[in-house]
Amino acid sequence: CGIVGAASHRNIVPVLVQGLQRLEYRGYDSCGVAVHAGGLTRARTTSRVAELLTQVHDDRVVGLTGIAHTRWATHGAPAVHNAHPHFSHGAGEDAETTRPARIALVHNGIIENHEPLRAALQARGYVFHSQTDTEVIAHLIDSLYDGDLFEAVKAAVLQLHGAYAIAVICRDEPHRVIGARQGSPLILGVGKDGTENFLASDAMALAGVTDQIVYLDEGDVIDLQPGKYWIVDRAHKPVARTVRTVQAHS
Ligand code: GLU
Repeated sequence: CGIVGAASHRNIVPVLVQGLQRLEYRGYDSCGVAVHAGGLTRARTTSRVAELLTQVHDDRVVGLTGIAHTRWATHGAPAVHNAHPHFSHGAGEDAETTRPARIALVHNGIIENHEPLRAALQARGYVFHSQTDTEVIAHLIDSLYDGDLFEAVKAAVLQLHGAYAIAVICRDEPHRVIGARQGSPLILGVGKDGTENFLASDAMALAGVTDQIVYLDEGDVIDLQPGKYWIVDRAHKPVARTVRTVQAHS
């Protein structure tokens, strides 16, 4: 339903959660946030975004890089274990308990071919912890990961059928958020002083943070870092997209 992501040099958790609050009007059944804080850590709830804010405050969740989501369930009941962000710990029965998460991902939309993808990933030893179509994307990216998250996401989206906007972070690349879209909206927010960049499903989420917005095209994949960004189109050719000044209404 709603996505916010950020790569910055400051603690980005307040911006992520306030971004979700600005998207609350769209409706949702659960919400969550994941940040890079040494490793990947997350908080999720089936309550309001205000409750998520309390959780991240109480648990002292801070990070420079992160992703956040409000979910409107399409596959899998509204429940904490189905709330985004979804993690991948890699393949193996006990991966979740023995290994830190390597991939965290949020997703808007519906993956039509989630069943064959899930079966193929299960055959490779991936264990699923939710009933969502979304979790297959996290494991798919993990299965394709070879040290470069941008390359793994570009390879993964080639296998997805359906509608998606995604934002992804990786344990091994602390300053990077990768986004991709097809059939669901995703925008880039260019930070004011060249030290941070943002992703969101709606420019409204970034009101007060930046009004410099790039509307991504269908099939675009974006590599976001604090001081730069890089966009490729559906053919994976580098593209320049126009930065627009958008009047954000709060
Ligand atoms: N299909 C995904 C799910 O059910 C994403 C739903 C959404 O767009 O919020 O978890």
